[in-house]
Amino acid sequence: MYHKYRGLLKVIISIDIFLSSIAAFMPAQSKGIHKSQGVEQLKLLEEILNHNQQFVEEKKYEEFETTKFPNKKMVILTCMDTRLVELLPKALNVRNGDVKIIKNAGALVTHPFGSIMRSILVAVYQLQAKEVFVIGHHDCGMSGMKADAVVSSMKERGITEDALDTVTYSGIAAEDWLRGFENVEDSVSHSVHMVKKHPLMPADVPVHGLVIHPGTGKLDLVVDGYEG
Ligand SMILES: [Zn+2]
Repeated sequence: MYHKYRGLLKVIISIDIFLSSIAAFMPAQSKGIHKSQGVEQLKLLEEILNHNQQFVEEKKYEEFETTKFPNKKMVILTCMDTRLVELLPKALNVRNGDVKIIKNAGALVTHPFGSIMRSILVAVYQLQAKEVFVIGHHDCGMSGMKADAVVSSMKERGITEDALDTVTYSGIAAEDWLRGFENVEDSVSHSVHMVKKHPLMPADVPVHGLVIHPGTGKLDLVVDGYEG
């Protein structure tokens, strides 16, 4: 009986150590809710929940009803930029139900077995996407982004040298992981290449590369996927 409790105690202590080690890496602000920040966040959350209740009650979802399979049989990888939220679908004439859209910072495929590539493969093999569109944009936040600047911001927000060392010892090179790109066309071409040449990508899937203007929605073709 005693041994049983001792075992349980050990488990509790290890969970506690685990949680405190996670807390050690969290920015100072997230440990205690900053009062003014907390109020701000609550306001936004409340606003969203209030709107949502009304949206559902008034059945405003009806005009968006569709299936998980894209009518236009395509998957788009693009940037999370705020200017593209509505502009990109309008500029490409895609609506709810037409397309799978994957977004990240910069429309980048940085790792051949990361979640972006996995999402593209799932879209192709499970969700009937037959063409891939990589769409970068001018004036991207990832353009010219330097890892040094991001790391400095992290330190200002309370991330310690110890935490950064742990990241390095875990095999992550921050200067590569947090680096942006110099030229959007080159970046799009590189991502297209990563997708097209992926060992698990079927050869008959065209992978196109485009750059969109975040003000006008104008598209420039970088890679025509039909040309092999
Ligand atoms: Zn961007």
